[in-house]
Amino acid sequence: SYVLYHDQIIKSGSIPVDPEDRGYLFGDGIYEVVFVYNKKPFAFQEHFDRFVQSSKKLELSMPYDIATFKNLMDELIHKNNMVNGMVYIQMTRGVAPRNHLYERNMQSVVTGFAKSVALDSILESQSKGIQTYLTEDIRWLRCDIKSLNLLGNVMAKRKAADYDCQEAIQHRDGTVTEGSSSNVFIVKNGTLKTHPATNLILNGITRQIVLKIADRLQIPVEEKSFSVEELLNADEVFITSTTMEVAPVVRLLGTQEQNYQIGPVTLKLQENFKLQIEKNTTA
Ligand code: PMP
Repeated sequence: SYVLYHDQIIKSGSIPVDPEDRGYLFGDGIYEVVFVYNKKPFAFQEHFDRFVQSSKKLELSMPYDIATFKNLMDELIHKNNMVNGMVYIQMTRGVAPRNHLYERNMQSVVTGFAKSVALDSILESQSKGIQTYLTEDIRWLRCDIKSLNLLGNVMAKRKAADYDCQEAIQHRDGTVTEGSSSNVFIVKNGTLKTHPATNLILNGITRQIVLKIADRLQIPVEEKSFSVEELLNADEVFITSTTMEVAPVVRLLGTQEQNYQIGPVTLKLQENFKLQIEKNTTA
């Protein structure tokens, strides 16, 4: 297979990995995951914009413009003969003798890879719904940055899996924030509710698109934080992410437990999200 290294697509296995790269030493870097449908990246512009925002928040230098990244992604997809799947792109601050203090304007190190995904594998979760595990949000206070530091998320996901759950739902002092790798929505009396895009969550691209679709369908939306209590009393619950799209939640486990039906608002948004993918990724 082929991978991305700086601004080249090269055979995998030939990337020099430097142990003094700050990505390894401090998790000092950022990433994006873009889904590819029918060989075409979905919402590339939105992902690139967030990548740039993350880089600015951490004072990482951005070595290439959007056209260069787009060309590299297309080449990565093409060389790997990928039809459906995901592209991962990461950028670390670069290589320097180990010191917490970073110098500005270091030479960033860009790497990436493509991974084919069978679309059936996500269809099942989308039609049957997923089980989730309620857990405390132990992460830092800059979750808006898509940084490589994911230990809180990683620990939450492991815990969820130990209870046969596909995703964790995190709460901070009883306020639901987001999943370990997804955003969380509830529906109550026809109104959609999700945590506002503050420093406490990652403003998911799927989240943003779902909010736009809801607006277009005239579904009332409140970008307001909600409590674990409201989560328990919700009519519908679903999660959104690049790799899961819109996935209904049918069960909550943990200190609080609840079962949910897959409801009409979730189904409508799920269907319209798929239509949008189709519209944007067919020639
Ligand atoms: N929150 C977190 C913590 C995530 O890791 C992700 C997925 N990367 C999301 C939300 C969903 O974001 P997106 O829709 O852009 O994939």
